[in-house]
Amino acid sequence: LLYNQVQDLKGTIRVYCRVRPFLPGQPNGHSTVDYIGENGNIMIVNPLKQGKDSRRIFTFNKVFGTSVTQEQIYVDTQPLVRSVLDGYNVCIFAYGQTGSGKTYTMSGPDLTTEKTWGVNYRALQDLFQISKGRLQFIRYEVTVQMIEIYNEQLNGLNVPDACLVPVTCTQDVLDLMKIGQKNRAVGATALNERSSRSHSILTVHVQGKELVSGSILRGCLHLVDLAGSERVDKSEAVGERLKEAQHINRSLSALGDVISALAQKSTHIPYRNSKLTQVLQDSLGGHAKTLMFVHINPELSALGETISTLKFAERVA
Ligand code: ADP
Ligand code: MG
Repeated sequence: LLYNQVQDLKGTIRVYCRVRPFLPGQPNGHSTVDYIGENGNIMIVNPLKQGKDSRRIFTFNKVFGTSVTQEQIYVDTQPLVRSVLDGYNVCIFAYGQTGSGKTYTMSGPDLTTEKTWGVNYRALQDLFQISKGRLQFIRYEVTVQMIEIYNEQLNGLNVPDACLVPVTCTQDVLDLMKIGQKNRAVGATALNERSSRSHSILTVHVQGKELVSGSILRGCLHLVDLAGSERVDKSEAVGERLKEAQHINRSLSALGDVISALAQKSTHIPYRNSKLTQVLQDSLGGHAKTLMFVHINPELSALGETISTLKFAERVA
């Protein structure tokens, strides 16, 4: 195994926290992030409070500040991604309230700019490159699948019928995404809205055949852009909106329950409580590796959601 350094890392569940910058054109108000320490500490401050109640420290495997680039984020993700080529199953999640940077981390702000590509494209590019380097020993086949979970229902998203599409280079993947975008062009606003209320999963299946022994290894990588974690005011949401909110709530807490049960090495792992955890069951637990990116919007107006996001993350870490 070339990439078994992954095993050196303690446990199989890791949590990274990423703070997005204030956006251009936005008033640069007070940041709720007081400081980010070397050892995965982040201090959140409530400027409206005084004394020790105004500050709280959370600790994760890593915390990335506002100036951290997409490239740097990938450097710390790469060992997990590469372990898929050795037959591991890996899940990478983006968690956080709408507008906190989940899609930025996973996909990037813009398909056409390689420099700001997110984890998705970098991972695929990396997998293709490493597999080419091993061609003399192992022949890999890579297929991708895109699905969406909306209101606890599974939909194949924007992918021609079969859903499992073989790809041989990053361009193939980009072409696929473009088909997706074209299908999405109708009612982009509505879809953008909806994308924050559905989980979207890009799954990369890898099958490798060792040329000498003929043995086969399989690994898969799930890249999951989760629905926005914000709580919806029950007195305001009605009908469809309320139903959506309840589904999201339920599936995110089911995910939290599964990951924290795994982290505590519990004997019962409650996979059956949501579509999301059912779909990912084979890649959560066992020898599988999980990485959760939790996203923080540093604006004061987001403080309540920031605290509940960090509490969620603390529970699964
Ligand atoms: P989410 O998917 O969580 O709803 P987005 O990824 O769409 O949030 O991010 C919201 C906005 O913030 C977008 O305009 C995005 O480009 C910007 N953004 C998010 N994270 C960063 C970052 N790390 N650096 C620069 N801009 C970011
Ligand atoms: Mg998004």
